[in-house]
Amino acid sequence: MKVLKNIEETREEIIQVKKIGQRVGFVPTMGYLHKGHLSLVEKAVKENDYVAVSVFVNPTQFGPDEDYDRYPRAIKRDEKLLRKRGVDLLFYPHVQEMYPADYCTYVQVEELTETLCGASRPGHFQGVTTIVNKLFNIVGPDRAYFGQKDGQQFLIIEKMIKDLNMGVKVVPCPTVREEDGLALSSRNKYLDSRERRAATILYRTLQMVKERIDSGERDGLKIKKAMEDMVAREKLARLDYAAIVDRRNLKQVEKVKGPMMAALAVFIGDTRLIDNIWLEV
Ligand code: AMP
Repeated sequence: MKVLKNIEETREEIIQVKKIGQRVGFVPTMGYLHKGHLSLVEKAVKENDYVAVSVFVNPTQFGPDEDYDRYPRAIKRDEKLLRKRGVDLLFYPHVQEMYPADYCTYVQVEELTETLCGASRPGHFQGVTTIVNKLFNIVGPDRAYFGQKDGQQFLIIEKMIKDLNMGVKVVPCPTVREEDGLALSSRNKYLDSRERRAATILYRTLQMVKERIDSGERDGLKIKKAMEDMVAREKLARLDYAAIVDRRNLKQVEKVKGPMMAALAVFIGDTRLIDNIWLEV
């Protein structure tokens, strides 16, 4: 596995790979890799001739009061995990390489970025779409792998690719969970043992939604209210948002039908966790 920090060297490497007709799969990450990330990597290795993974904690997707500085980092460990899985290239740039002092270009998807996490984290998705664009321009992937764990992010990136005719195929990958249902996340590291137990509230709430729909509930606003009430009963939890939305526009549904996503964001202590499930009625 090559480890490159420099944009031009990475571009040159990819040019050589494409010259011999290889298909490039790409997995962008912020590192501190867990089994969720690695499931994307393994799928990419299976489906492509050449796989690049990036590890970059992207400052432009963090708000001023968020956890950019303390976001967990473990590059040596990440490197080993990727090597073991047969990744060909680890792209691990410095912040100044991606955002030199005179940097001033951003990519903005409208509408889909205005609800859910976009409403609570202004500027977050602009940071995400900007860095994904830059990484795509550097790595030139045929396929890119994203987790459904970040459901809104997935749908926004898919829309950006379509609207900007980017010619990259996005591959959705199912959420990997702990045995008790908690979605794996680098931020789970912040939880103490009491908080860790309380954190299952996200998955339990989503299961409740699924059960209600399976037993015939079709009132979207009632389900939303039930999600809010359920989170309110967990003492260590503070709700950011809960919603059941149409996956095509991310707006709250009144009547449960078509492709939907039930999603929530919850603070457990100071740690903000998100989770979602995709539903179709
Ligand atoms: P991150 O490092 O948090 O930016 O995540 C990098 C990629 O891994 C994103 O596409 C995430 O959606 C995906 N991912 C993170 N956690 C999980 C998980 N538990 N299951 C599946 N994919 C995940």
